[in-house]
Amino acid sequence: MCSIKQNLEKVIKQIDSATQKCGKKLSDVQLIAVSKTRPLNAIADAAAAGHRQFGENYVKEGVDKITYFREQYLNLEWHFIGLIQSNKTRIVAENFDWVHSVRHSKFARRLSEQRPDYMPPLQLLIQVNTSGESSKSGIEFYDVKELADEIDQLPNLELRGLMCIPQPENNHDSQLTAFAPLSQLFKEMKASRARFDTLSMGMSGDIDAAIASGSTMVRVGTAIFGARNYATHKY
Ligand SMILES: *Cc1c(COP(=O)(O)O)cnc(C)c1O
Repeated sequence: MCSIKQNLEKVIKQIDSATQKCGKKLSDVQLIAVSKTRPLNAIADAAAAGHRQFGENYVKEGVDKITYFREQYLNLEWHFIGLIQSNKTRIVAENFDWVHSVRHSKFARRLSEQRPDYMPPLQLLIQVNTSGESSKSGIEFYDVKELADEIDQLPNLELRGLMCIPQPENNHDSQLTAFAPLSQLFKEMKASRARFDTLSMGMSGDIDAAIASGSTMVRVGTAIFGARNYATHKY
């Protein structure tokens, strides 16, 4: 039997050996447990095993979970990693700690305006399109710096880095090729920015290649919680 706790241990071991291979430490890479479609008890299991950082893709599902665990006095950190819609920015700004999927200044402005004053700044990543075709997967490379400069002007946000979701590739070399351009852009931007320290790339199928390419944050669902079943999920 593979419990969530055992799966988490396995993924952490994998991250540990991937970081060692490139002269880094385990603590250089954060693990976000992607809990979309998973029930509350799966998250509770991961939390009981000591995990704190979770990623959600759907606003209502995410906020229901955040509210539930807040009421349990469990101090978890929540990352919004899904597609942002304009009419949902307020509820994201009021509940999440991080947003990985910013790709437009309009959304950034709304998030800043709607972030409550009593909360710390919302931690943001710009989602960049690294696959070429679909603009749904992020903004274009040549627009990233301009968006970053705009975000810098907004009071309730802190721009921490970049994120991508490349097309799935199943061999290590193609995965490295897919990650290379964003890794390069991240290094360039990091050189001239304060606290720009987060490169969110890597999922269950490409953790090793992502870390070898300089990822500092991997978003892992399947390898921790098992295969998702969208047909029967309650959330
Ligand atoms: C679902 C999802 C993940 C996790 O994917 P797995 O392959 O299950 O690890 C990571 N990032 C984003 C943006 C996702 O939507």
